[in-house]
Amino acid sequence: MSERTQVTVFYDERVLRHAPDVNVAFLPGRLDKRIRHILSGLNVQWKYPEHPGRITAIMDLLQREPIPGVALASGAVATREQLSRVHTMSFLDDIFSLRDQSAWLDVDTTAVSPGSIEAAEVAAGTAIAAVEAVVRGTTESAFAIVRPPGHHAEPVRARGFCLFNNVAVAAAHAQAELGCERVLIVDWDAHHGNGTQDIFWADSNVMFIDLHRASPFYPGSGGLQDVGAGLGEGATVNIPLPGGAGDMAYLRAMNEIVVPAADYFKPDVILVSAGFDAHWYDLAMNVTYEGFAAMTAALQAISRKHCDGRLAFVLEGGYNTESLARGVHSVLSVLAGGPVPEPRVCGMEEVEQAIEFHRGAFVGDTE
Ligand SMILES: [Zn+2]
Repeated sequence: MSERTQVTVFYDERVLRHAPDVNVAFLPGRLDKRIRHILSGLNVQWKYPEHPGRITAIMDLLQREPIPGVALASGAVATREQLSRVHTMSFLDDIFSLRDQSAWLDVDTTAVSPGSIEAAEVAAGTAIAAVEAVVRGTTESAFAIVRPPGHHAEPVRARGFCLFNNVAVAAAHAQAELGCERVLIVDWDAHHGNGTQDIFWADSNVMFIDLHRASPFYPGSGGLQDVGAGLGEGATVNIPLPGGAGDMAYLRAMNEIVVPAADYFKPDVILVSAGFDAHWYDLAMNVTYEGFAAMTAALQAISRKHCDGRLAFVLEGGYNTESLARGVHSVLSVLAGGPVPEPRVCGMEEVEQAIEFHRGAFVGDTE
């Protein structure tokens, strides 16, 4: 048997077909009117921030700066059965009825274009392909480069640029088809993964740990006291952080909450809702590339300890295309066995340069 690949990137260009254009006429009319009213209150021309250029930036950088040990594989379309493990049939009927149309789905400006439904099916199916590969052992770790993102999508509601909850669909698939009893999902996107939390709220076999910028930041959920309910009580772990929190806070949470939680839970596979809007270019948090790399190393260590290194990343947000592409690149470098750079306290490097520059400027001549 051939040796398994270190890390595999799953990508399917059909995810580029989701491209809402806010200037075309949207259905239904009443929601369109409300959203036009919201947009007209903004001082700048609003463009749909979750656009295909996010993905092309990632893939272009991987082509320009290939990482040894990273293989590429194609994605797949999720079936209705796979999606229905986490979404209701009536929700799926509603979404599928929008195929080939333009429409607003939510006042938080979630919209679809004619190619969106297929892109969303492919996003969820590609997350499934990634988890299948790590559980079957053809690759140690995997990264599904997908959009629309998923973690805000609830069982019955599309919101926050999300249509189907890709990471939840992958987790449910791992349980239903791949023999995984316990799935750990770690969500480090800057926003709380309200949809994923909702879906597994009462499920003791899916542990959901979410590091995010605290309410009232969008979507406003994810309080410390929100720990799940019923049989799932304790399996939801929220880590709300203030705006501007950076590498040190994230790593401490990783080492002192995620590590012991995983030791307790003993996952069969680990999924990561990997958003890169926690990078400081996106102006919500202060995570650096070194921070993402160090968190990746921590998760890789956890997965090797508990589940033979089975670790699958699913892309969520990240709207500055430079930090998004570079962030994904730094994660993949670590997964492929590259060195783990040391995170630093933000600004310390610059202040040290400034100290050096100004050294000697204020001495002499006064005596
Ligand atoms: Zn986000």
